[in-house]
Amino acid sequence: MHAPGCNAILCRYGELALKGMNRGRFEARLGENLRRLLRGIAGVEARRVQGRMWLAKRDGVAFTPGELDLAAEVLPRAFGLTSFSPGWMVPPRLDEIRAAVAAATPSALAPLCAAHAPDVPVRVRVRTSRAWKQFPLDSLAMNVALAETVFALPGAERLTVDLENAELTVGCEIREEFAFVHFASLPGPGGLPVGSHPPVLALLSGGIDSPVAALLAMKRGCPVDFITFHSAPYTPPETVAKMEQLVTVLNRYQAPRRLFVCNLAPLQVRIRDACAERFRTVLYRRMMLRIATQVACRQRHAALLTGDSIGQVASQTIVNLDTINAATWMLVLRPLLGMDKSEIIALARRFGTYELSCLPGVDSCTVFMPSSPATGARRQFVE
Ligand code: ATP
Ligand code: MG
Repeated sequence: MHAPGCNAILCRYGELALKGMNRGRFEARLGENLRRLLRGIAGVEARRVQGRMWLAKRDGVAFTPGELDLAAEVLPRAFGLTSFSPGWMVPPRLDEIRAAVAAATPSALAPLCAAHAPDVPVRVRVRTSRAWKQFPLDSLAMNVALAETVFALPGAERLTVDLENAELTVGCEIREEFAFVHFASLPGPGGLPVGSHPPVLALLSGGIDSPVAALLAMKRGCPVDFITFHSAPYTPPETVAKMEQLVTVLNRYQAPRRLFVCNLAPLQVRIRDACAERFRTVLYRRMMLRIATQVACRQRHAALLTGDSIGQVASQTIVNLDTINAATWMLVLRPLLGMDKSEIIALARRFGTYELSCLPGVDSCTVFMPSSPATGARRQFVE
């Protein structure tokens, strides 16, 4: 982000998200999460003003370019934010606002001017929102006043006003406490701040699906701990190393939480030797759920979570899911149930887990894999 002198970041969150939730709790959680994500910026504070959150340094000084880059990198991971705008916070007076617009607009315009042929004008507009009704000019008059400021800048002959289809919008918010000038609204990830709901335990494999499922639970406000099953010595030690790496990536979206690692091999050997071959996968998965339930009870998780999607693989037919599910009394969240693989992959790319998931790894489910696994393993037989 190149925004010299920028001294504040306006953070927006969906009003709808607050329905039925305690607003104060939501905002406090969001503020806490933002401070944690931005702890690399010394003295940064998150302040609340009328349904918005403002990030600024304690002494009001401008962010450095490095600090702005850090904010642009981490804020898209702050669940609960719908969008954010870096900008200039000034006292709510016309002269101060005009000065901020005059100082900041040239660097916002520079890349647009550079990308245009000299005879093609850059389309600009001004948009004011005036939450403080005592401010002497109304929003329309402010739009005109700030447009005059912009068109008085050197090089303004290259600009044209376009209210419908602007390439640069000069945004201005006027509040009793301060005014705010900005040029861009960058997308946040949406959802609810992590911590708005109780923690859950995700069954994490090295595949593409379960990391995405875990992130979707975080997106709805649940902190997520992880449990993974390996089958040493039948799976290599790298299996666990890959899971640790995945959890490091997932923990960038929340205050870091734990990975539980469990060796399923002894149980798999018993299942291999004692049970019908075609039920193996379903039996492994039932064991995983049983063990996860024990861990979740001790760690006070409110639910389990898996990356199941209906019919994606043999173990995920409705009949098999029912039989697997019967191994636990706990709520099992399955946020990917209705998604196609291509949709899950798109999310994995967006969340940044795709590359790691694609690294080769052996899943413990594939150990002693039957040649034709049952797709309709009925509960009464399996039990
Ligand atoms: P994924 O891409 O998440 O590995 P998948 O499409 O390979 O899923 P399955 O192998 O049937 O599907 O696994 C379904 C779900 O069971 C996974 O999403 C995960 O939640 C859980 N699971 C499977 N294997 C393991 C494992 N080794 N450790 C922990 N959980 C697992
Ligand atoms: Mg898998």
